[in-house]
Amino acid sequence: MSQEMFWLIFIGIWVIAIANIMFRLLRFYSLPSLKTYIRNHPDCKTQSGIACCHCGSKSIRLWGLTSPESILKIFLCNHCGSRLYRN
Ligand SMILES: [Zn+2]
Repeated sequence: MSQEMFWLIFIGIWVIAIANIMFRLLRFYSLPSLKTYIRNHPDCKTQSGIACCHCGSKSIRLWGLTSPESILKIFLCNHCGSRLYRN
């Protein structure tokens, strides 16, 4: 492999990795916070927790932005799969 080809592949991998992280961050920050979600959907705050504004399900799961251990979490509806809010 020529040196130019090595650097082309090296830089290409970095560009794809950075684009992937930027896409995830944009998707994360496009979601409302829990406070905003409740303000926009006040009926979704129930005595037993938060409900999905699309289907009413109270089964909500956490999804780490980059991995299950990520501190940035997206809350998804387990029933319809909608992205609801972020932490
Ligand atoms: Zn739902």
